[in-house]
Amino acid sequence: MFDTLSDRLTSVLQNLRGKGRLTEADIDATAREIRIALLEADVALSVVRTFIAKIKERAKGAEVSAALNPAQQVVKIVNEELVGILGGETRRLNLAKTAPTVIMLAGLQGAGKTTLAGKLAKWLKGQNHTPMLVACDLQRPNAVTQLQVVGQRAEVDVFAPEPGNGVGDPVDVARRSIEEARRTQHDIVIVDTAGRLGVDEELMRQAADIKAAIGADEVLFVVDAMIGQDAVSTAEAFRDGVGFTGVVLTKLDGDARGGAALSVREVTGAPIMFASNGEGLADFDAFHPDRMASRILGMGDVLTLIEQAEQHFDQAQAEKAAAKIGTGELTLEDFLEQMLAVRKMGPIANLLGMLPGAGQMKDALAQVDEKHIDRLQAIIRGMTPAERQDPKMINASRRLRIAKGSGVEVRDVNDLVNRFFDARKMMQQMAGRFGM
Ligand code: GDP
Repeated sequence: MFDTLSDRLTSVLQNLRGKGRLTEADIDATAREIRIALLEADVALSVVRTFIAKIKERAKGAEVSAALNPAQQVVKIVNEELVGILGGETRRLNLAKTAPTVIMLAGLQGAGKTTLAGKLAKWLKGQNHTPMLVACDLQRPNAVTQLQVVGQRAEVDVFAPEPGNGVGDPVDVARRSIEEARRTQHDIVIVDTAGRLGVDEELMRQAADIKAAIGADEVLFVVDAMIGQDAVSTAEAFRDGVGFTGVVLTKLDGDARGGAALSVREVTGAPIMFASNGEGLADFDAFHPDRMASRILGMGDVLTLIEQAEQHFDQAQAEKAAAKIGTGELTLEDFLEQMLAVRKMGPIANLLGMLPGAGQMKDALAQVDEKHIDRLQAIIRGMTPAERQDPKMINASRRLRIAKGSGVEVRDVNDLVNRFFDARKMMQQMAGRFGM
């Protein structure tokens, strides 16, 4: 998502490099290019207009800064304005003073509400909340079961109408769920509502009724970033028909242009609060306008990377490995542990994609092969603990056994062992040089 936009903006801004002074004509030309890039990415026209006007005004009136050259100045302005469109500050969930906090999800069918319910619940659980999911989508035959499955995967409780009672009244289910949450001491209730294929007044009224009945603290409008220009009109319809306090963008992992989704905040005034980028429960995070902007401008999402690393980083384990590097005692066991620790952070290509300059590394990224890493893990797992501790003992017959046991060729085992020795030697030399 946003790759084309990111490439275009990066190259427009790169063209400014090396210019000692920007003339008014330079600024106009740059603004024109940015305008085209945004329109091609599906950003709503009204948003583009305001954006370009601000960029021009600020770039022309820019103070001469000792710290920044003119090109950097423009990059800074574009970045700041982009952060502005995306909502400025990160908006956190409003928690109710008395539990439970009620979060309601609304949006078109297929937008990703049910999936999101699970993701959000898991995320909140990770922050020591005790969320409960509520199935108020009684329209779609499988919706209740789907939510129950999602709840199981996220390991959270699900409140659903008893099966066999016919189509229940979603407003009633929602109301009862709040009493249930109070009784069972769940501090957050996440209400999944029926989707609509298109903007449907009847269902819209139902959502508004549920919202009123449960006094929702947050109503999150869930929108599929792949639906293009329709994202803006759908958002407007939900704003008028139901009303919402925040937006969740889903399917940011898709290859659509996505600019429309980026316009939703500016058009409706409601902040983008979360973003989903995959079908897995972990493919989800709070939305940070500043990080998204720097990602779009090709500066990489270093902050997200650092945060993810921190979340999964095991200090003791890393220190142990670092100490061993210096003395050349690193074992395959440590190597496997490190590999698993990195993988906990998500698919390798996703991680690399967050690094600065990743926009230009796409071909290399496409070649990062998760299967290859799986194979390395399988080979190490096929070794005995003694072999992992002391890889030198892995002779020809052991290599044959390991290869058979882990379903690879002997040359794959050779390759891994040789590379491990090379890497260990190199790390030890580096550690010596840096005084580790
Ligand atoms: P609902 O009708 O709004 O409840 O939508 P669902 O949660 O059932 O999602 C519709 C489809 O989109 C499902 O196949 C989900 O697996 C998929 N989906 C949801 N979120 C994402 C996402 O962030 N990325 C991708 N690629 N697929 C998603």
